[in-house]
Amino acid sequence: MVTGMTRQRIIPHLLPSLVLLTLATVATLFNQQLQPQWITPLIWSPYILVIIGAALALQFAKRQLLISVSLTLVNYWLIRHFLQAPIDEPQVRYVYTLLVIGLPVLMLLNQSVTERGLTHPNSVVIAGLASMTIGIASASYILNGAALLQWLDQYFLPRSYDGLLISSNGLLLSVLLLTLSLALLLWHKTTIHAGLFCVMLANLIPLYCLDIAYISSIFCTTAVLIALATGIKTSHDLAYRDPLTGLNGRRKLFERLASLSRRYSLAMLDIDHFKKFNDTYGHDVGDDVLAMVASKIAEVRGGGEVFRYGGEEFTLIFSSRNKEDAKAYLDEVRELIANTPFVVRDRSKRKTASAEQRNKGSQRHKKVQITVSIGVSEYSAEQTKPEQIIKAADKALYRAKEQGRNCVIVG
Ligand code: GH3
Ligand code: MG
Ligand code: MG
Repeated sequence: MVTGMTRQRIIPHLLPSLVLLTLATVATLFNQQLQPQWITPLIWSPYILVIIGAALALQFAKRQLLISVSLTLVNYWLIRHFLQAPIDEPQVRYVYTLLVIGLPVLMLLNQSVTERGLTHPNSVVIAGLASMTIGIASASYILNGAALLQWLDQYFLPRSYDGLLISSNGLLLSVLLLTLSLALLLWHKTTIHAGLFCVMLANLIPLYCLDIAYISSIFCTTAVLIALATGIKTSHDLAYRDPLTGLNGRRKLFERLASLSRRYSLAMLDIDHFKKFNDTYGHDVGDDVLAMVASKIAEVRGGGEVFRYGGEEFTLIFSSRNKEDAKAYLDEVRELIANTPFVVRDRSKRKTASAEQRNKGSQRHKKVQITVSIGVSEYSAEQTKPEQIIKAADKALYRAKEQGRNCVIVG
């Protein structure tokens, strides 16, 4: 175990969804200017996008995406078919109240249960619960709607406030469930959790502003677009990102190199004596340290782009700097890593430690020093192909190892 793990950022995960939500808000503000020929496409867009979203989710076997677009579809369909009349009508209020309560609960359940593909029992249980909720809600209304509504009204009676439709307990519940969804996002810090949080938000907004024309079409379209963007980003990450470090992998590196036409410099970085580290602490601790070192490398300045080349080797590209310029930034990274004490839990010793030793915590944590060696080269008339530049940087790296490690050599 390593403390001070990767300081991942949440904003990049949230940004596309926040942009879409902002656009939806702007569209809502200007809904009066909507040209008549756009009304039909707008009303139908959630349905069409749900088909695309569901196809994507099925293709990649992503239950969380499939359920979230399906619930968006249910929300939109119910709003369009039942909530276009005054809230005083019992049936309207019943559907409204159940949506305010049930939709975010099911969405949060979907988010909190780990994704294990479509065929895992998880998926069956959640899909079953969602269908059951809808089924029971419909059956209960048919059987004893009046009594049920009377009970719901006691706690969730919605009132109008300047065009907003709010039941205070309903709002409290929505805020609580959105907060829990946000907490899951802050805990996991992944694209999918950011997407699911924003899909829930986009679904809830129209429920509180039903009087605004086309708000459900605008925000349900946005919800499905967020789900789509999340699905595309997740599959992109699957292809390009290294899961251990969160960095782009070799595939992305070669794509990026192929796109560079100007002079650039390239560095190869290798962790020193990492095999010994693995042998001492075990492969799991090695993995943790690798992720930690990667997060330090990612802090490189000067516009450096970082890729995991493979194993404990990383590649850095400086697309607009020569190798001497790049060396200054690489030295910063090297020093940063050398000066960071990595705190590891010594698992190999823990196995043999007595209960008393473990209780004392005498061998629980240990600070270790990690260093890296770096070789850097650049595009030139003699070496124009990426493979040649990588080879030259590798040679410089070899010299860095020969010269005692923990240094940057310009090749
Ligand atoms: P040097 O200073 O010469 O680089 O010494 P080294 O021990 O680091 O030598 P080398 O670079 O050849 O060793 C690479 C080692 O890195 C081998 C393997 O044990 C370890 N390693 C490679 N990939 C991973 C990984 O994904 N996780 C872990 N835990 N270890 C890895
Ligand atoms: Mg190596
Ligand atoms: Mg090494």
